[in-house]
This record gives sequence, structure tokens and C-alpha cells, in this order.
Amino acid sequence: MSDILNCVIIGSGPAGYTAAIYAARAGMNPVLYTGMEPGGQLMITTDVENYPGYPDGIMGPAMMDHFQKQAERFGTEVRYEMITKVDFSGPVHKIYPEGGAEVQAHTVVISTGASAKWLGLESEQRLMNKGVSACAVCDGFFYKGMDVAVVGAGDTAAEEASYLAKLCPTVHMLVRRDEMRASKIMQKRVLNTKNIIVHWNTETDEILGKEEVEGVRVVNNKTGEKTEIPIKGFFTAIGHKPNTGIFKDWLEMDKAGYLINVPDSAKTKIPGVFVSGDAQDNIYRQAVTAAGTGCMAALDAERYLTEQEII
Ligand code: NDP
Repeated sequence: MSDILNCVIIGSGPAGYTAAIYAARAGMNPVLYTGMEPGGQLMITTDVENYPGYPDGIMGPAMMDHFQKQAERFGTEVRYEMITKVDFSGPVHKIYPEGGAEVQAHTVVISTGASAKWLGLESEQRLMNKGVSACAVCDGFFYKGMDVAVVGAGDTAAEEASYLAKLCPTVHMLVRRDEMRASKIMQKRVLNTKNIIVHWNTETDEILGKEEVEGVRVVNNKTGEKTEIPIKGFFTAIGHKPNTGIFKDWLEMDKAGYLINVPDSAKTKIPGVFVSGDAQDNIYRQAVTAAGTGCMAALDAERYLTEQEII
């Protein structure tokens, strides 16, 4: 029997597990490496209310447990290891788990996701999921009727502020310079929304609250003046970082490190290597869209194995 695996999946968020479900059911005997954060970004989310099929919502970690069980039910082997290096130079791909022996595979599905960037404040860490969030579309609903703050001045921050402005009486946008990085149209939308207050030259000094967010203390970096703003939700929107560093010698990526797929597919320029989820998506970034592209990647991988007469 060949030691070359049919399909290795790197990453254990909705994209990776969906790829595993499809690959396992197609008889590809997938092996999934979870990486350092098994379950991915949903493990730091509380209620998920926008994933179809859960009419009462579900906790993020419980949902990822379901994903994993479903993938294992069809024979996916889950390995709790981190991949630190890949070699895509030959027709058979080489994958290196941390501290382990080289693994070979005919196909690789990359679903390593992205991580939100954080300010790095102690209070931000402590109040995570207790008012601090990095996703307005995921968590904004919980702050309906309450005042919130958004930190950042890019397109994400502008979008999040606009989204929250439909739910919350006042949205305080904390912008560290005297201008925004967001596209002109998004800036215009923000500035024309009456209940978004833009605080220019403003940085976050501390998020306030013991058990949950009660306010934010901000500092004007021109005058040094500190002000406390009462809020219930604090949304960090200072960018995401795709977890794609180990692929930089092999695959095309954009300036921010998002992998580039062949349009209308999950293929990359390297035959047998496929991408899915937030590692290749800086626009939608939803569990359901990640799951969708995970499915695409597995279907493309299956087609590849069939064409190569491997399965
Ligand atoms: P960006 O890197 O574009 O913006 C990050 C923002 O966060 C900047 O305004 C930056 O400030 C600010 N920031 C960074 N660190 C801090 C900090 N420590 N304290 C306060 N503010 C901070 O990230 P985005 O996620 O907004 O966008 C990423 C890419 O995705 C962009 O190319 C964007 O255009 C794209 N995008 C497109 C969308 C669309 O087309 N619908 C939607 C969302 C994103 P500063 O400006 O001072 O550096």
C-alpha cells in the first residue's frame, strides 16, 4: 500500500471540516491537521445565529464540535498537530508537521484561515466575548439598542460602523489619525450617517468594565486629553492577518498575504493544491462562505485525483 495520502487538509475551521466531510464521503480518506487553534476563529465566538440550520443559534465551540464529529463519522483522521513547512515542488506534495516526520500527499486543501488583529490591551483580552468582538456581523445583534465603539479606519471598520449604526443608537468610531484609510465611498457613508460619531486622532487607552464592557477610555493623541465614553460593545476592526506564511515560497498571494485562487475554482497555480476559507477571502469572512469554499476545494481535489487515476 502506498504511503502517499490522497488528501491532506490543513486547518480546522468551517472550511477545513467541510472539505473533510466531502473528501471523506468521496472515499479520499482525508487526514486533517488542526493547527494551533483547533476549531479556528469560531472557538472565540459565543452565539452563532447566522449559520443556516440552527434556528435557535449555537455556541461557536459547540458548532465546531459538530463539524468535527461529522467529518470523523465518514472516516476523516484528525491530527492535533501544526504544519510548519510545505514543499510543493514535485507532483507529490510534502507536508511537515511540527516535530514529526514528513507526510506526502497527492492533494492538499489549505484552510488555515485568518486571525483578527487585536490592539493588545489587557482589558481587551479579559473582556473578549464579554463586549469585545472583532466581528460586527457576527455579534452586532447582541448590542441592539446599545451604544458601541468601533476602532479602526479602514474599509472593515467603516463597514462595521455602518452595519452597527442600523442597530445601535450611537456608534463611536475611534480613528487614530486625522484621516481614514477606507475607500472614499465608505468614508462618505460613515460621515453621512448621523448616529456615527467619528473621534479623530483618538486612540484606545483602556476598555472599561469588570465583568462586561461598560465603556472605553480614549486619549486624543494631539492634546493628550483623556475621555471616557459609555458603551456596551467594543469592536476591533484594525485588520486581519491570513495564516499563510508557510506557503509564501510556493503560492501566489496578494499584498496582505491572502492566497489567490484560480477564478471560479478552489485551485491554485500548483496542480493538486487547493485553497478555501478565510486564507483566500478578505471580503466575506463568514463561517458559511468558508464552508462553501471548503466544499469547492474537496470537489476540485476529488476531480483531480480522478483525472490522475489515483482514486
Ligand atoms: P486595513 O489594513 O485597510 O485598515 C486597518 C485600519 O486599522 C487602519 O485604518 C489603521 O489605521 C487601523 N489600525 C491599525 N492598527 C491600529 C491600532 N493599533 N489602533 C488603532 N487603529 C489601528 O484593514 P481592513 O480590514 O479595513 O481592510 C483590509 C483590506 O480588505 C483592505 O484592502 C480593504 O480595502 C479590504 N476590504 C474591502 C472591503 C470591501 O471591498 N467591501 C470590506 C473590507 C475590507 P491607519 O489608517 O492609521 O494605519
